[in-house]
Amino acid sequence: MTNESISTSTQTEDTIVALSTANGFGAIAVIRLSGLQAIEIANAVFRGKNLEKQASHTLHFGQIADGEIVLDDVVVALFIAPKSYTKEDVVEISCHGSPYIVQAIIKLLLQTGARAAKPGEFTLRAFLNGQLDLSQAEAVADLIASDSKASHQIAMQQLRGGFSSQLQVLREKLVNFASLIELELDFGEEDVEFANRDQLKNLILEINKVIFELIRSFELGNVIKQGVNTVIAGRPNAGKSTLLNALLNEDRAIISEIPGTTRDTIEEILNISGVNFRLIDTAGIREATDTIEAIGVQKTMDKISTSALLVYVFDVNELSETDLQTDLEKLQREGMPIIAAANKVDLAGKNSIHFNSSDEIKFLEISAKEKQHIDELKTLIYNTAIQGRLTGEETVITNIRHLEALKRTNEALKRVLYGMENPVTSDFLAMDIKQALYYLGEITGAVTTDDLLENIFSKFCIGK
Ligand code: GDP
Repeated sequence: MTNESISTSTQTEDTIVALSTANGFGAIAVIRLSGLQAIEIANAVFRGKNLEKQASHTLHFGQIADGEIVLDDVVVALFIAPKSYTKEDVVEISCHGSPYIVQAIIKLLLQTGARAAKPGEFTLRAFLNGQLDLSQAEAVADLIASDSKASHQIAMQQLRGGFSSQLQVLREKLVNFASLIELELDFGEEDVEFANRDQLKNLILEINKVIFELIRSFELGNVIKQGVNTVIAGRPNAGKSTLLNALLNEDRAIISEIPGTTRDTIEEILNISGVNFRLIDTAGIREATDTIEAIGVQKTMDKISTSALLVYVFDVNELSETDLQTDLEKLQREGMPIIAAANKVDLAGKNSIHFNSSDEIKFLEISAKEKQHIDELKTLIYNTAIQGRLTGEETVITNIRHLEALKRTNEALKRVLYGMENPVTSDFLAMDIKQALYYLGEITGAVTTDDLLENIFSKFCIGK
């Protein structure tokens, strides 16, 4: 590690400072100090009253001055340790939101003894001081990044302790067994069993069940965090662009009567009931001779391969049942549901295809132009993608680091189970249990390394 990187063992003596609100102009900006000397440093540049004599959780109006020069009128908030975000003394200075003033005040605080905070360092301190466990600290980053009701909800749940407290309880039970098995090892040759094998087995099965649910929830968690990739595909002139506009209620995509006008792909975010869907409009899927169109066709297939959902649009008056079947077969991919939107039902001479919805393909008659059944389509998109999996109560993991640790825990526990059913010695059993404990601990932060912390907190913004 370089001197610049975060260390878990040193520097908590330092008082750190950073702008905690977004960069740029604003009505106000908040500069945050945390550490042993936070109040002393703030007091040295504050005119108004003696901040060192004030109670915790109080606000104070005054000026920040560099010698004779007053930099700004400010309001100072005091949080005395341990009742603060970092569990250290924290001072928050609300000044006017001018980048010049912010820079001047921070420069002054640096000259007075504070050090510039590194990315995520406030939250790192909160973690090191036991305010948050690791998955909660990560939830802070997710919370700040959340851009939809669903991603906000999941981050909030994780921040409140969510699944890490549940794992912590199970981990402690497993720690007990590990120590009993260690004890057996101490007795060496003697054939003693302190750890009840049936109970151990039940505990492992219980942990694996929780882990399995969490691993499964990742798929959903991930799509919610990133947005659900939804491709809109169909033959040229089927009405894809019109539908995209109807869904978004805007006129973004170019609509025209010339087949194949949507040359490239267009991506728009549609929020349905709090979940973000990334709608990707594609060029026609017709076998094209025109090269630009052909690129579009390939793109469609590429986009489909990374999508969670496909909305296939077809002109109900033009497309034959055979062509419809051919298209659907071409587009179908294992595990990706298709919504087939039978478009232009407003036109006279509606043909008489009967659509039978199945688990994989759901039919809905719409008119993109006349905005008929657009709300029904939105509901169908939501239900197809989420399938009742988001109720607000369940635990959903969204973090790839957690997923990896859970998978490794699961593998280690499987080895323990195997060891119990096969003639392996207690020391192997103990080793596998320790491995499982290690990986479980990585999620909650019971086990950390500098590298791990560095990796997590360096992704935070400065000031968090
Ligand atoms: P795309 O090539 O699939 O993107 O198709 P467009 O959205 O550009 O639509 C092609 C033509 O079909 C345009 O003239 C639209 O106005 C028309 N169109 C699209 N949806 C409907 C519909 O529901 N009813 C009718 N009557 N015309 C539609």
